[in-house]
Amino acid sequence: MNNPFDSRPNFYAAVPLDRRTELRGDRDLIEQHLRAEATRILPVWRSQNLVAGIGAAPRAAWLSAAQAENWIGGTEAIFLGLAGEIAHFALELSHLDDPAPAAAIAGASFTDLRNVGAIMPRDDGALLAYARGLIHWHSRHRFCGVCGHATMSEQAGHQRRCANAGCGSVHFPRTDPAVIMLVHDGDRALLGRQAQWPPGMHSVLAGFVEPGESLEEAVAREVMEEVGIPVADVRYHSSQPWPFPASIMLGFTARALSPEIRLSPDEIESAAWYSRDQLRRSPENETFRLSRRDSISRRLVDDWLAAG
Ligand SMILES: [Zn+2]
Repeated sequence: MNNPFDSRPNFYAAVPLDRRTELRGDRDLIEQHLRAEATRILPVWRSQNLVAGIGAAPRAAWLSAAQAENWIGGTEAIFLGLAGEIAHFALELSHLDDPAPAAAIAGASFTDLRNVGAIMPRDDGALLAYARGLIHWHSRHRFCGVCGHATMSEQAGHQRRCANAGCGSVHFPRTDPAVIMLVHDGDRALLGRQAQWPPGMHSVLAGFVEPGESLEEAVAREVMEEVGIPVADVRYHSSQPWPFPASIMLGFTARALSPEIRLSPDEIESAAWYSRDQLRRSPENETFRLSRRDSISRRLVDDWLAAG
């Protein structure tokens, strides 16, 4: 690797907002921002974001406070941050049976960010990913994991507190760490595929970090579990928010100590070694394709190709 620490951000990172965390506790100020004319409200409906230009040049869409008036108040708006003076909020609309009227106001549609993320402006993709991730967390933490009582949003949507006075537990947004690693032997990289992936898609290996293990140990364990190969020289590469639904992908490279692949049938369908020439000639069709361009998996492969 010539430059494993290239600091270029991955897709969905570098949200173009100043989060202004110190403002979250100021209810009056947050309410003022929520009602301001220039404010942008990013609605999320059942994990789908509001997107304009689908099919041509997709971009993030939003509602003004006036346009969202029917829905603000019925749910908890989440303060995302400021872009200059313009406040941005996320708003959960999943209670609506039909989100089309809300979408029509913005001349946009609700869609899964994974359908359009790779071809939209990076700033827009990061913004929508941030909104989606926080809304998802709220939807899964309406009740206290300690006592089972209802929880309430606080800090402009950045924490929830148990409403049971005898408990009062505070819950913070979660992001689940997953390691993703390009295993190489210097000249070749190891790619695998899972049966449920789109036809032809091949990716580097990945898995969730377990309690009580370091990231490096998680890398080595997952590679051993999936393909039976011991690794060394586990090196951090970069990371990527991956709110599909709630992960951060921690990217690594690792050197294989043996070329022999012993597949775990429960984990992946196939795995093989590929030279740089083979990957550069990827037909990108249903016989063989690399991962999506917005994924850190693709970034790991692209950087490995560029280094050789
Ligand atoms: Zn509780």
